[in-house]
Amino acid sequence: MSDLRELYQEVILDHSKRPRNKGSVEGSNRSAEGYNPLCGDQVTIQLIVDDENTVTDAAFDGVGCAISTASASLMTEALKGKTVEDVHRLFRAFHCLVKGDELPPDSPALEKLEVFAGVAEFPMRVKCASLSWHTMQAAIDEKTDAVTTE
Ligand code: ZN
Repeated sequence: MSDLRELYQEVILDHSKRPRNKGSVEGSNRSAEGYNPLCGDQVTIQLIVDDENTVTDAAFDGVGCAISTASASLMTEALKGKTVEDVHRLFRAFHCLVKGDELPPDSPALEKLEVFAGVAEFPMRVKCASLSWHTMQAAIDEKTDAVTTE
């Protein structure tokens, strides 16, 4: 096992055991719920999107496996301070990363989110890693139906 992979697993473990931004956002103006029936992961995403279309706060709540929890934790950290447009670009890049596809040429730096590169080897886990992202997208787009990965 490479050092890089060990480091990645450490970050995922850390965020699954001590998730950041878990709970609710006071005064949130966007929210959505997501469910991954394959694994049983459930997530609620709450955001504040300001008048300038910037995500100023983000939090998640729910129950799920280590990958889904770590993904929601790292995602909420990554969103804060980004414009909705940047968030969409980040999601596209992240989705390619977890599926093992080549990243689009205009991709922003994934930084800490790179730890999910190994998920591409486990197709069942791709939905765990992307659930919170799909749910966040639904929240931003103000979709009212619950998100399901099926
Ligand atoms: Zn899962």
